[in-house]
Amino acid sequence: MEATATRQTVAREPVDGECPSCGTAALARYPVLGAGGWFQVVKCQGCLSSVSREPWNRLGSVDRDHADRVAGLAR
Ligand SMILES: [Zn+2]
Repeated sequence: MEATATRQTVAREPVDGECPSCGTAALARYPVLGAGGWFQVVKCQGCLSSVSREPWNRLGSVDRDHADRVAGLAR
């Protein structure tokens, strides 16, 4: 009776470009929590190879930028 008790929702952002490993145009960017904190990674959704990985502040500009855009549209 505990089917989806811990459902995690990760916002995956589609990224233009092809995977250098398998050539599939199925790249996605999303935050992951690693040993050194949060990282923004771009991974191929076909073969799951990492294309890029950079430090990311989870309290950073992403949510704020989104909020600003929503606020702008709401006016
Ligand atoms: Zn790939």
